[in-house]
Amino acid sequence: MKGMMMHRPLKIADLITFAAEKYPSGEIVSVRTEGDIHRTTYRETARRIARLAHGLRKLGVKEGDRIATLAWNGYRHFELYYAISGIGAVCHTINPRLAAAEMTYIVNHAGDSLLFCDLTFVPLLEKLRPQLPENLRIVIMADPGHMPQTSLDGVLCYEDLLEGQPEEIDWPDLPEDQAAGLCYTSGTTGHPKGTLYSHRSTVLHALSMCVTIPDALREGRRILPVVPLFHVNAWGLPYGAPLSGASVIFPGGALDGKSLFELMDSERVYSAWGVPTVWIGLMAEINRRGRLPEGFGDVVIGGSAAPRSLIEAFETKGINVCHAWGMTEMSPLGTQCNLSPDLAGLPLEKRIDRKQSQGRRIFGVEMKIVDDAGNRLPHDGKTPGHLHVRGNTVTSGYYENTEASKPAFDGEGWFCTGDIASIDPDGFLMITDRSKDLIKSGGEWISSLALENIVMSHPGVANCAVIAVPDAKWDERPLLVVQAKDSGEPRKEDLLDLLAEHVAKWQLPDDVVYVEALPLTATGKVSKLTLRKEFKGTPA
Ligand code: ADP
Repeated sequence: MKGMMMHRPLKIADLITFAAEKYPSGEIVSVRTEGDIHRTTYRETARRIARLAHGLRKLGVKEGDRIATLAWNGYRHFELYYAISGIGAVCHTINPRLAAAEMTYIVNHAGDSLLFCDLTFVPLLEKLRPQLPENLRIVIMADPGHMPQTSLDGVLCYEDLLEGQPEEIDWPDLPEDQAAGLCYTSGTTGHPKGTLYSHRSTVLHALSMCVTIPDALREGRRILPVVPLFHVNAWGLPYGAPLSGASVIFPGGALDGKSLFELMDSERVYSAWGVPTVWIGLMAEINRRGRLPEGFGDVVIGGSAAPRSLIEAFETKGINVCHAWGMTEMSPLGTQCNLSPDLAGLPLEKRIDRKQSQGRRIFGVEMKIVDDAGNRLPHDGKTPGHLHVRGNTVTSGYYENTEASKPAFDGEGWFCTGDIASIDPDGFLMITDRSKDLIKSGGEWISSLALENIVMSHPGVANCAVIAVPDAKWDERPLLVVQAKDSGEPRKEDLLDLLAEHVAKWQLPDDVVYVEALPLTATGKVSKLTLRKEFKGTPA
């Protein structure tokens, strides 16, 4: 027997319509590429989104069209998220830090017909233009007074699109599985692969994140997404924030510790979201000034494993750490580690032990771990295996890429994350490593994350990475790469002695090398791929 309730399609535009009514004065604050700070509200933003949607239709944008963005975090980028998907087109966010060849590949592969670009990226587009589709039109995200001199042909001006358009719109009822967003992975091997989000998956993810991270996502809170709008929907914040009434502070392009500290301080940011490398920079600034930014209370760390020393540094200063795990293919949230009341009261050390794990699943995501043959492994907190997931916010295949899609799913239809992890009886996920970052030495696995965590606790280490280098006898051996703090390089022996206190001798790196700065990926994580290429022959 079927239930007898109405079936209204879930749609993204409803999130902003709701925010405009329920939290009209909820703020969107943006550091603009023009150099100033822009302030607006959800009510005003909903009006501008309606005008932009009319403007897009006037340009001929139709349902299913792919519309690209190449932009920092700011209110215009946020408006595009809603206006594009609202009229049934697909918002394709492009990571500007990708290599030129990858960028031109994805614009061509996605078949984008329109590209919105921040002022900063105009010179980049001028270089890429010959490799981009001939019929691609470009809109510069500025007002007429800030339009640049450019060799790009026939560029349009963002604010001109909105000019004279009505502030009201009847958002069409689209099928809820209509495509709404497209994001390509950074493609460490082969071409980047596209994840195509739907209205349904996006709204469900927004609801789920609001119940999962309720302390940050609520009316009156001020959230800083350092995580970019150009990568996995800025972890869903552009949808979860208006749904919950939290205000959003967009940082623009300056993401160093000093700039972030000043912005957080002046805007009274409560919760800040980003990858560990960003928080290492902010923590150095906090230590330099000897104080926290005003109003700061919570940090969401994800994208790669949060080092124990970083969690400890925040928690001892009274900042709640929420360690989260996810993937482009998962919208992105999979798990988060805000502690339930029974665990929040634990002594500091025990709390940090817990927070070092990636936490428990969010509603709508199921997880299993399996061995090489696909057999399920116990959730005993000890046995590591391949982590597979399924759920309404998980991809069902890569956009226009059956070749890459096939091997990404197991026989039961679960998505293979490529991560190695264990899950404990209470449901806490512990990522051992990405399978391609594990060090396979003499038939045994060495977790690079476990070694890095220990090295990061040394006071002289700013950041570090452990990578596999080829070895004739053992196949692979670990090499420790260290970025030292300004105080000087720690001694090699001290680092190895520190490791020897915690791990078996055969797991100790064969050598330590020092670098001025660790290379980062397009998403701001330490690039082990680059390091592996660079140190292929080390040690002897
Ligand atoms: P990219 O491949 O460009 O880094 P993703 O953001 O999709 O793009 O990366 C997802 C991967 O990042 C996960 O599969 C996992 O390996 C890693 N990751 C994300 N969050 C964490 C975390 N909290 N701890 C450990 N690894 C993480």
